[in-house]
Amino acid sequence: MAKLDTVVAEIVDEMRRIPDRGTVASYIPELACVDPDYFGIAVIEAEGNAVVGGDGDMPFSIQSISKVFTLTLALGKFGNRLWTRVGREPSGSPFNSIVQLEREQGIPRNPFINAGAIAVTDLILSGHLPREALGEILRFMQFLADDPTITIDQEVAASEQRTGFRNAALANYMKSFGVLDNPVDFTLGVYFHHCAISMSCRQLAMAGRFLAQFGSNPSTGLPVVQPERARRINALMLTCGHYDGSGEFAYRVGLPGKSGVGGGIFAVAPGKASIAVWSPGLDPSGNSHLGRMALERLAKRMGWSIFGA
Ligand code: GLN
Repeated sequence: MAKLDTVVAEIVDEMRRIPDRGTVASYIPELACVDPDYFGIAVIEAEGNAVVGGDGDMPFSIQSISKVFTLTLALGKFGNRLWTRVGREPSGSPFNSIVQLEREQGIPRNPFINAGAIAVTDLILSGHLPREALGEILRFMQFLADDPTITIDQEVAASEQRTGFRNAALANYMKSFGVLDNPVDFTLGVYFHHCAISMSCRQLAMAGRFLAQFGSNPSTGLPVVQPERARRINALMLTCGHYDGSGEFAYRVGLPGKSGVGGGIFAVAPGKASIAVWSPGLDPSGNSHLGRMALERLAKRMGWSIFGA
């Protein structure tokens, strides 16, 4: 067995035995019903070899991991003009924090906190109907993952739409500063729905290959983004991808990564592998508890940390 197969099998076995699985997100009611015992992992190496373990083929709610892909899409449309709407600094605050927005005139710190991602979604929506913008985001995911079966979980989207008062506050607040162009309800509708895209670890690792491959999609050999842009998106994932847990994630795992409250984490070992893990229980910063632990072990055993051994 190749080393990666052994390491993935060991990690699946070790994760199965860990009793403390973190706490499943409950502020989106539909997510609260997910069983914390799930653990999945998928690693796709540069040459295309895929190693999938545990519940790595089970779809889950990708939530904030979608923000990596909406950022990619929005950068493709608006280029560096995007950075007039949103910053590039770690927030050091929880993902749904509102305090910085007042001090910083409605400009969110980065595209991965909720406010920043809502501003990015608003840019993608401009000039389109919500359903067109959402269709574009979903088709982009399907194209990247090479899988037309990827869908949106309408129940999760409706659940968040009913209870997303905090996101509505962030969006209204930004609108008051002129940072959003579209009606708040439209922007939030698209945002909630792209967060509710359902994907398995295998599908996510497939979709993110271009970030591990200096911008190219290995299925087509064509660039999705230029190498420089892939490098920059990876830099943002490293510094901002885990909210106020980003420093700890860099310290422990040493890979660019993006988490979601559904318990998924997408991570990149540049030039080596595209990785996705999933375990629904979260730590206090809202990042998958076992997911991070699994990535820490994977990066260490494979020698993949971008900071060296
Ligand atoms: N849809 C979630 C929210 O807006 C995404 C948050 C997350 O995954 N951290 O609250």
